[in-house]
Amino acid sequence: MAELGALLGSRTRALAVRRWLFDGGPVPESLPVRLPGVSAASWSVLREKAPLPAWSLADERRAPDGTTKLALTLGTATVETVLIPGKGRSTVCVSSQAGCTQRCGFCATATLGFTRALTAGEIVLQYAIARAAAPPDAPARNVVFMGMGEPMDNLDAVLAAVRILTEEGLPGLAASHVTVSTSGVLPGMKRFLKESAAHLALSLNATTDAQREALMPQNRSWPIARLLGALREDHERGSGRRYFIEYVLWDGVNDSDADADRLVGLLRDLPAHVNLIPHNPYDASPLRPPPDARVLAFQDRVHRGGVRCLVRWPRGQEIAAACGQLARRHEAAS
Ligand code: SAH
Repeated sequence: MAELGALLGSRTRALAVRRWLFDGGPVPESLPVRLPGVSAASWSVLREKAPLPAWSLADERRAPDGTTKLALTLGTATVETVLIPGKGRSTVCVSSQAGCTQRCGFCATATLGFTRALTAGEIVLQYAIARAAAPPDAPARNVVFMGMGEPMDNLDAVLAAVRILTEEGLPGLAASHVTVSTSGVLPGMKRFLKESAAHLALSLNATTDAQREALMPQNRSWPIARLLGALREDHERGSGRRYFIEYVLWDGVNDSDADADRLVGLLRDLPAHVNLIPHNPYDASPLRPPPDARVLAFQDRVHRGGVRCLVRWPRGQEIAAACGQLARRHEAAS
């Protein structure tokens, strides 16, 4: 906001630009020649110094439940953004990188390799574009950084995007409605917890280092105890945050009663909220989700252990828009 105000010469003009971009209409592929409420001279400065990132819609797929996956071409990169309508509000899932810097063995995005980091503008743009596609009775008030990429490996841009989404003026999201998810990149995670008021989700996915290392190589540098230690430190600092713990369930890998009990043990002293995600299959993966009854038994056991726990049943699986399925499949299909 401060930068925009400085570029345009006034806060009122900055607010006018935000109104225009986030007012619900479709986002144009480039900035208009004039903007009502902003003088021609200052608008032309903005067009030159801070143009809309170049983008075009490469593909749009809508699942029967309304979940919509948008493939956006951003210059040389293509990323995916998912709109997930809910009761009274929608969630936008944004990408922070084209491809990913991490190599999780269960995620379709990892198979793409890494193309490049996105800018803050490109991250906010994804939200603006998806927002225009939200149903009128379910405006896009939540943002999750759970699309392609590892947010902590592009933290400057992610923090700037969170700031733009949550500061004064439109879209004015509550910080508690923005969640940044990490596969456990400890230095970035610590910095994020210090510098941002947004929520953090940690993709834990296992209860022992041996298990976790087998699927998430980054665990060798940043093992479970250190990751949870950082959350504990943040909690003890009095941040007042709740921590979302993502736990993908794989049949016969991490779905036993012993796993559930260990998970409870790890999280007992934290205000944690576990989201169980039954594995979403994709072509190259031999991993399978457990039967639904096992998922429910696992949830029940964690819940009875005193840890809040919900199941994220797949949304948009038909269009490969569910967690871990973002891999530009439309290109292969078309
Ligand atoms: N890189 C960040 C942001 C992506 S979030 C992170 O890992 O947190 C994507 C979420 O989907 C993560 O919680 C991840 O563990 C989960 N996920 C990845 N592949 C999956 C799959 N095939 N099925 C279900 N969930 C998956």
